[in-house]
Amino acid sequence: MELIEKIALMRELSEKWRGDGDIISLVPTMGFLHEGHMELLRVGREKGDRVIMSIFVNPTQFGPQEDYSRYPRDTEGDLRKARSAGVDAVFMPTVEEMYPEGFQSTVRVEGITRYLCGGSRPGHFAGVTTVVAKLFNITKPHLAIFGEKDYQQLGVIKQMVRDLNMDIEIIGVPTVRQRDGLAVSSRTSYLSSEERSSALSLKKGLDLARAMVAEGEKEPAKIINAVRQLILSHPFTEIDYITICDPEKLTDIEIIDRPCLVALAVKVGKARLIDNVMVREN
Ligand code: AMP
Repeated sequence: MELIEKIALMRELSEKWRGDGDIISLVPTMGFLHEGHMELLRVGREKGDRVIMSIFVNPTQFGPQEDYSRYPRDTEGDLRKARSAGVDAVFMPTVEEMYPEGFQSTVRVEGITRYLCGGSRPGHFAGVTTVVAKLFNITKPHLAIFGEKDYQQLGVIKQMVRDLNMDIEIIGVPTVRQRDGLAVSSRTSYLSSEERSSALSLKKGLDLARAMVAEGEKEPAKIINAVRQLILSHPFTEIDYITICDPEKLTDIEIIDRPCLVALAVKVGKARLIDNVMVREN
């Protein structure tokens, strides 16, 4: 497995693989690898001849009050896991390599970035699309793999690729969960054991929403209210948003008469956690 820190070397290797006729999969990550990342790598391995994983904690997608400086890191563990997953190259640039002095460009998707996490994390998605566009230009993949846990991020990237005619297939991978339902996330490392129990309320809330829809409830407000009550009955929880929305546009829906997305963001102690589920009426 190659470990590459320089953009020029990464481009050279990708060019070579492309020249050999290999299909390149890219799995962008911020490191601190867990089972969710491993599933993305597995899909990348299955669909491509060469797998590149990037590790880059991108400062521009964190707000000033967010957890950039204390975001968990474990380079040694990550490299071991990447090797075991059959990754061909890890691209791990420094911040200076990605944003040299004089950097002045931003890739911004309008529309769907206004809703959900866009409301409480201004600038977040512009940071994401800019760094992902750079990673695409550097690693030149045919395929790029993203998790459905970050449902809005996946939609924003698909929109960017469509709008800017990037010749890359975007593949979404279903959320990997722990046995008790908690969506696996690097940020659960911030949780104490009591907070972790409270974090289960996200999945319980989504299950409740799904059950209410299955029983015929059509009013989003009633469901959102019930989910809110359930989550707030757990200590340490602070709700950022709970929404029932159109799975493509991410706009709120008024009546549940078609498949829709239930998505939520909840702060549990210091960790801001997100989760989502698709629901459909019977
Ligand atoms: P991150 O390192 O948190 O930026 O995540 C890198 C990629 O892993 C993103 O595409 C995430 O959506 C994906 N991911 C994170 N957690 C999960 C999970 N539990 N299941 C599936 N994919 C995930």
